[in-house]
Amino acid sequence: MSARILIVDDVAANRIVQQARLTAAFYDPILAADGATCLAVAREERPDLVLLDIGLPDISGLEVMQRLRRDPASRDIPVIALTASGTAEERLAAFASGADDVMDRPANERVLLSRLRNLLRLKAESEFPSTEGLAIAGLAEAPLAFEPQGTIAVVGSDPGNPLWAQLAGKMRDRLVMVSRREALAEISTGHTLPEVYILHDDGRNPSGTLRLLSELKSHQATRHAAVCVVGPAGEGDEAAMAFDLGADDAVGPDITAEELALRTRGLLRRKRQSDRRRARMQDGLRLAMRDPLTGLYNRRCAAPQLAAIAARAREDGSQFAVMVMDLDRFKQVNDAYGHAAGDQVLVEVARRLTANLRDTDILARIGGEEFLAILPQSCMAVARRVAERLCQTMDDQPIRLHSGEELRVTVSIGVAVAGAGGEDSYAIEGLVEQADLALLESKGAGRNQVTYRLSAA
Ligand code: GH3
Ligand code: MG
Ligand code: MG
Repeated sequence: MSARILIVDDVAANRIVQQARLTAAFYDPILAADGATCLAVAREERPDLVLLDIGLPDISGLEVMQRLRRDPASRDIPVIALTASGTAEERLAAFASGADDVMDRPANERVLLSRLRNLLRLKAESEFPSTEGLAIAGLAEAPLAFEPQGTIAVVGSDPGNPLWAQLAGKMRDRLVMVSRREALAEISTGHTLPEVYILHDDGRNPSGTLRLLSELKSHQATRHAAVCVVGPAGEGDEAAMAFDLGADDAVGPDITAEELALRTRGLLRRKRQSDRRRARMQDGLRLAMRDPLTGLYNRRCAAPQLAAIAARAREDGSQFAVMVMDLDRFKQVNDAYGHAAGDQVLVEVARRLTANLRDTDILARIGGEEFLAILPQSCMAVARRVAERLCQTMDDQPIRLHSGEELRVTVSIGVAVAGAGGEDSYAIEGLVEQADLALLESKGAGRNQVTYRLSAA
């Protein structure tokens, strides 16, 4: 679906020109002629972005922006404010009212479109997963009462340029001056990296500035830092290029320290928001997939992995094995040494199993003292060798508890191999069932041993 852009302008001709341009760029424009309509449409239709003329007849554009920001329904919609006179005060007021960017009329069409793409991309990134989804999962963002001091690197500029002293005076964050070479060297050493880079282009080497920008945006260590281009490379067609290369902001050489401070603070705030969101998502995924005691995959996560491995094996006609493993007489361990000691044993068993499997094998804890291993690209001969080794490793080395006591723990294993008997032998249910039956057989035959099955063809 194409992004829906709300165009707010009291001059009909402006609306129509803007509408034609956005339609040509495959956006879906919605039109509003005044502030009241803008607020109503923003609330009901939730556009993806608002292009807002500051000079409106009914409610001032600044007031409209403040109201958009106060309403939870429209709070996160990016707004580009368009000013007619473009005085420094007007621009600052627009930022202060919550604009994501301020552009003077007539806006350079290419810059406007690439800025639009840039803001839409940031919005899409910040919406995944949805705020609602995070709230349900208990992962919603807690508002931070206190933001720590940030580090902002000014790259490639003359430290004597008064702009930086003025900027430093308007921010509580640390400003460091580095050369382009130092900025790149820091990436490779990876030591504490700045959260925001201000790339200063003095007009002598705009393509060098853009190269550094794409370097920062593609390197693993700095990909998530915010980057702002300042100077000739930050306006006109160069700015369009900068946004397309991933710049978070781009401004021309006439920027005032006040405006740059406001923009930089905004960059820092948004960068931290998306860092927190990413971290929460990773934590959430880990919690959803891992068993907290052993760190192995949990039961819920094992099933889709098995399905994926089976599908791949069916495709390339290879065989794969599943192993179900159950500790022998584990209840007695708990009874004799206590539950905490039992937990220690489970952790050590998980470690040994992991150490004896390949990186490409999947190991999950599917029950209290029951584990499942999936071995892709493994025929019966391979599975047999691995299973015997696992059994042996448990039996050979007693487990040493924190208390210093040592105990011998053994494991019974059932193995089934898929793909040795045509299409049907890839069926997952049959496979796990065969492995379970084989495990029962191992238990019945005296434990501490392996039993094998070929999945029924
Ligand atoms: P078998 O050889 O037949 O498998 O005997 P078993 O004692 O291992 O089997 P049973 O199923 O009777 O008992 C399993 C025990 O595992 C009972 C339970 O207390 C223990 N257990 C399950 N989960 C955990 C856990 O997370 N921590 C600890 N310490 N013990 C657990
Ligand atoms: Mg058991
Ligand atoms: Mg059991």
